[in-house]
Amino acid sequence: HAKEQGKNNYQFYSAEMNIRVFERLALETSLHRAIRQREFLLHYQPRVDLRTGRISGVEALVRWNHPEIGLVSPAKFIPLAEETGLIVPLGEWVLRTACAQNRIWQERGLPPLRIAVNLSSRQFRQENLIQMVAGVLTETHLAAQWLELELTESLVMQEGERSVAILTELKEMGIDIAIDDFGTGYSSLSYLKRFPVRNLKIDQSFIRDMTRDPDDATLVRTIITMAHGLGMKVIAEGVELEEQLDFLRRHQCEEIQGYYFSQPLDAEKFEQLLRSGKSLVDTGFASPEVGY
Ligand code: C2E
Ligand code: MG
Ligand code: MG
Ligand code: MG
Repeated sequence: HAKEQGKNNYQFYSAEMNIRVFERLALETSLHRAIRQREFLLHYQPRVDLRTGRISGVEALVRWNHPEIGLVSPAKFIPLAEETGLIVPLGEWVLRTACAQNRIWQERGLPPLRIAVNLSSRQFRQENLIQMVAGVLTETHLAAQWLELELTESLVMQEGERSVAILTELKEMGIDIAIDDFGTGYSSLSYLKRFPVRNLKIDQSFIRDMTRDPDDATLVRTIITMAHGLGMKVIAEGVELEEQLDFLRRHQCEEIQGYYFSQPLDAEKFEQLLRSGKSLVDTGFASPEVGY
């Protein structure tokens, strides 16, 4: 298109492209530095069991504490880390840090929780993925049952037979698998049956609109019913409102995650929340008089 519009336009585009290339290079350089200088940290967001109102799990989410910019969102740097391959060492750091932190909470006598860690496609394609994960569990002394790996729907589908093999190995080690961002990848639930997947996380875009858009409501209801039919547990992401919670509870969604309860917190704040032991939802039956 630029070509059709003449030389000036072409120069404009190429100048703009140079800036983008430069910015990318700068970002890439600082990503390298960030790994060396330990500028990454994890935040932790609770998953809440809708029947008990209790925290039943936690997702580890990476943050970049850039010395000049401050906290950078993963949406900004994960894609570049993925493209450049830096996601491999970064992802391993995330896994090790999350497992070590979970083990620390257990040693402090807090109720044991499963910690969910996101795996990128580049990591998933690494030959030594299984050994890497097994090595981290050994090193951090975390039992495999307290780790869950989140993979996006599109990644699992793309990798087909290889996914089946790897997910089966992980399952045999005792690690749970969750499909992240479900509903965004155009796959059918019956196809998913081929994969040893235990949990389904409904993408937040459906949760956001389901109380306003009847199509999204139908979709969410259908996903929950079918997932249950396949023996999977359902987790709703991005729950912000009471009405969303009510809808999900009415349709027997097991767990929810979202700002309604808590944003992702640093390790210390998450531990405080865990210690408070408070019920995060009014479960309607578990009142203090009854005792639970
Ligand atoms: P995700 O795995 O689907 O994580 C959920 C995202 O939704 C998180 O964004 C979380 O902060 C956000 N969220 C949670 N509750 C709510 C809510 O009620 N409303 C809204 N609007 N958002 C909510 P975050 O932390 O910015 O991460 C974005 C994505 O970056 C993640 O999506 C995941 O795909 C990726 N990511 C984060 N950490 C890692 C990591 O350690 N490794 C890899 N490979 N990817 C990561
Ligand atoms: Mg996730
Ligand atoms: Mg997600
Ligand atoms: Mg997402």
